Amino acid sequence: MVGRRGLSALNLTFLGTASAQPSLTRNHSALALRLNSDVWLFDCGEATQHQIQKSKVKMGKIEKIFITHTHGDHIFGLLPLLASMLNGAGGTADGVEDPRTHMVQDSDNRPIEIYGPLGTRAYIRNGLKYTHTLLGAPYVVHELRFPSDPPDGDYTSLTLHASESPNGRNIPQTNGVWPDIYHDTIISVSAAPILHSVPCVGYVVSEAPVPGKMDPAKYIPELKRTKTSMSVMSRLQQGESVELADGTVLHGPPRRPGRKLVILGDTYDPSPIAELASSADLLVHEATNAHLPALDPNTKSEDTFESVEARTKSRGHSTPQMAGAFAAWIGARHLVLNHFSARYPGNDDVNPMTKTIMEAIARLAGEHYSGKITCARDFMSCDVEHV
Ligand SMILES: [Zn+2]
Ligand SMILES: [Zn+2]
Repeated sequence: MVGRRGLSALNLTFLGTASAQPSLTRNHSALALRLNSDVWLFDCGEATQHQIQKSKVKMGKIEKIFITHTHGDHIFGLLPLLASMLNGAGGTADGVEDPRTHMVQDSDNRPIEIYGPLGTRAYIRNGLKYTHTLLGAPYVVHELRFPSDPPDGDYTSLTLHASESPNGRNIPQTNGVWPDIYHDTIISVSAAPILHSVPCVGYVVSEAPVPGKMDPAKYIPELKRTKTSMSVMSRLQQGESVELADGTVLHGPPRRPGRKLVILGDTYDPSPIAELASSADLLVHEATNAHLPALDPNTKSEDTFESVEARTKSRGHSTPQMAGAFAAWIGARHLVLNHFSARYPGNDDVNPMTKTIMEAIARLAGEHYSGKITCARDFMSCDVEHV
């Protein structure tokens, strides 16, 4: 759980930015969000644990894993990651070794929490069962249920795995979304469906309101005049009102909204999440295919922007222009594109052609959006910044 003192770091690391097929420069989808020292993972494609090992993300600090949908390029890495994490191979945070099993247990035995659509629980149960995998620490799966899902899911014949907590929830939608699926004192997570070829979810991570901007010149003369201790400044900073010795009341600056991060899974139309996602400080949106006639040698002579968009949508995905249009609609301040086709390499720091293509993709997204645009590459990190 994130500490009570508030969030300083809210940092994203892209562990994989490829769509269907990985390449030498892009791994399958996974994204690590660091909240102070805790880590939350969003999607867990094949070889995510290798990517974690090559990054600064600490496997043992992962507390929650959010799955957008159960397509393999977003979930194939989950079982090996759990096996490593929960048997201590990843250096489980604050863990202690069980003298009988030599497995590392989290000191409070709090399960790793996994959120995802229907099928996430069955996938993990089946995978662990048929690979005879025993875990040294518990996990729990909370499923985000669509109205069209069968009430008992499709796994009723499967029994609870030995390491699975029975406290997994099946979370129904409320007014078409899943509000507040997790919250603590300073952070909350909501989710909503987004349209793809299979049930798919986008996540909205919201920081609780933070202290307003302090103007010391407004307060210090009053504190000096009434010989009040400067220590009250910290209370004012928190937005409190302070009564001075002469009866004057000073009001701290009103609290302002915290940071908002929106992470979408694969989609050709994320409109059901638009309201929850409004005014995001950072939006992660896929951009699987683009029409780059002068740059991409795979371009077919008959292709147009329209035909590429139609083809991309028919496969459940988006073009950069579609991502830009959505970012503009919700008033996002920073758009990060990811989930690129294997034809767009990710080594833009060494390959000038890669850089040119990524710049062209960003320009396409910018046709409908005037905010900051970044094309993600593997191991790229960026802070979610308050604007
Ligand atoms: Zn995908
Ligand atoms: Zn997909």
